[in-house]
Amino acid sequence: MFGAPAPGRDPARALPSREDALPRAADLARHMSALLGLPVHLRLTDNRATLVSYRRLSDGVRLRLHHLFLDAPDSVVRALALYVAGDTAAREVLESFSHAHQGQVRRERRPGAPLRTRGRCFDLKAVHARLDAAYFDGRVHGVEVGWARRPGRRTRRTIHLGGYDARLREVRVHPALDRPTVPAFVVDYLVFHALLHADLAATDAGPDAHDAAGRCAAEHPPAFLAREAAFPLREAAWRWLLENLSSLRRG
Ligand SMILES: [Zn+2]
Repeated sequence: MFGAPAPGRDPARALPSREDALPRAADLARHMSALLGLPVHLRLTDNRATLVSYRRLSDGVRLRLHHLFLDAPDSVVRALALYVAGDTAAREVLESFSHAHQGQVRRERRPGAPLRTRGRCFDLKAVHARLDAAYFDGRVHGVEVGWARRPGRRTRRTIHLGGYDARLREVRVHPALDRPTVPAFVVDYLVFHALLHADLAATDAGPDAHDAAGRCAAEHPPAFLAREAAFPLREAAWRWLLENLSSLRRG
């Protein structure tokens, strides 16, 4: 299976209605079935994290496919069939097709509510709005910023303090920072850093210095660091985090 590319700025195109989608899905399943020589049980999804996945069954293949493939031209349907048949090279065709149609890929919301923004000590909605106005000219308004849903185990050696998740377009901050002993500029810095990743991911075609789950790469590119220098308390925030990491990790 493979997931969606990072969200772009294409205006979202409407998904087909159910009445429209079902007969087309049946056609697509028949087409795939003919190409594979196997019964294909097709299920359409709106799941942007997994655009294509399949499972072999004793009586054929169960295929889960994002709606956007209903519009796929013949070459892409053939690539789908090759992919299901185990040809990993076909993945490139599917990826470039999904890139071209990413406006149709809805943001997937993991099970559960939107991110919680109001903590006991810090309201991340207010932090987000203030930083967006001060440093981003409103460009990162559409990114969701909140407290991470499932904090890591207290015994873990590493702690993911904050980051930008490009798949969900959200910035998550570790709840260990929602404490009265944490200076506000430290929370500001972590949110600012993650929003900078979001801003660069939306404007820059090149690879960004973080992975899909929002973990930063070991080094940030010079362009990132140059913009990060606009945050006046960056060094002080770093010092505070380094000095307090072990107590944050204990939770
Ligand atoms: Zn980073």
